[in-house]
Amino acid sequence: MVIQESMTIMEKLEILSDAAKYDVACTSSGVDRQGDGKGIGNSIAAGICHSFAGDGRCISLLKILYTNECVFDCKYCVNRASNDVVRASFTPEEVSRLTIEFYRRNYIEGLFLSSGVKGSPDETMEELCRTVELLRGQYHFQGYIHLKAIPGASPELVERAGYLADRMSVNLELPTAEGLKKLAPHKTRKTILRPMKQIQLRHGENKQELAIYRHAPKFVPAGQSTQMIIGATGESDYEIVSVAESLYQQFSLKRVFYSAFVAVNEDKDLPMLPGGPPLLREHRLYQADWLLRFYGFKASELLSEKHPNFNLLLDPKCDWALSHLEYYPVEINTADYYLLLRVPGIGDKSAKRIVRARRQHSLDFHDLRKIGVVLKRALYFITCNGKMMYPTKLDEDYILRNMLDPKEKQPAEEITYRQLSLFDDQSTDMQPMLTGGMAGMSSGMPAGIAAGMTTAAPMRRRA
Ligand code: SF4
Repeated sequence: MVIQESMTIMEKLEILSDAAKYDVACTSSGVDRQGDGKGIGNSIAAGICHSFAGDGRCISLLKILYTNECVFDCKYCVNRASNDVVRASFTPEEVSRLTIEFYRRNYIEGLFLSSGVKGSPDETMEELCRTVELLRGQYHFQGYIHLKAIPGASPELVERAGYLADRMSVNLELPTAEGLKKLAPHKTRKTILRPMKQIQLRHGENKQELAIYRHAPKFVPAGQSTQMIIGATGESDYEIVSVAESLYQQFSLKRVFYSAFVAVNEDKDLPMLPGGPPLLREHRLYQADWLLRFYGFKASELLSEKHPNFNLLLDPKCDWALSHLEYYPVEINTADYYLLLRVPGIGDKSAKRIVRARRQHSLDFHDLRKIGVVLKRALYFITCNGKMMYPTKLDEDYILRNMLDPKEKQPAEEITYRQLSLFDDQSTDMQPMLTGGMAGMSSGMPAGIAAGMTTAAPMRRRA
């Protein structure tokens, strides 16, 4: 392990912001704001990332590791003990000064602080607590702080940290205990789930205290999140979404993040991924996660042991609809809100608008377009006053052929991975929600229908 003692704070910042980039618990994107070259202030090298507040605001965070020294040897991690990389550690004073200086310059609104395990979990957690105490106490920093709980740290330290941070997270890392044992031998399910449970219980108690004493100190007011690495071990999508579902139910998590495995180490236990990180798979999991949290879907509805993986060509909601054609067509003027939510092309906001608007008059396709329904998706699954938008048939292959956007058609054997924004594809449901308008709408008749369905799209169902 190469530990450099005499680094400047900027050199440490460069190393420790770069080392934090694999943690996706707050989504990362660079802020291209150049400094004046005299020291603190280059937000590109400083790893400033964006996260989303509870009210949907995008906030920029300084995302760093406290240290990349680590006594653990997780095989997927660039900071593992057995890797020969340059190591650096901040002091509590350095992290506090960096945060407050960036904050004063209006570069950031908060701090995302994670860490390798230096010495022992307690030693590291103690340092993290001291850092945040300094920031809150001495520097009177009121901005957002997301702090990692180190697996294996004592409950007292986790509790202390919880009263200082806005959000905490403990990374589950791998979906199953076997995966953890194989790739992160120093971590156990128990040392990860115990602080998670503690945070959940204390958070619940604190809510009750706050209902009585408005000024009681707040414990992790923004809740907790976790992260799973996707593709490093052999779990199916079904196993992953089932784990996510039970994390939401049993630990009241705010978010589960999915991080496509990036091969940074060579190890016989790590998979070879010639196509690069499974980004499209990660994207489908985020879409499914959205369905679990906001659309009332259950993991067992989306996938099963027989069909354990998502179709890479279709978003999970369309895929579900095509496998459950018995529920369609849905009559827009009478279907209840939850059934409307299950129509591809109708998002939460559109479903609410439909329910409201139809109290005044019965709706037609023109009204749906104005409401924000993505008709190019929805048209196969809905009727307005008993009529479909175009003469279509409720047939899986027929709809699938027509739904696949020509840009998305790919030869069956050449599935390539690409980075998509969280709201692409399924999207179409989400976009009106996010933009509050008509984004993603298209009024055109699908090419396949217009052309009498003469072109057969290459298909790979249930990839
Ligand atoms: S505990 Fe594991 S994942 Fe975390 S820094 Fe150390 S080696 Fe990396």
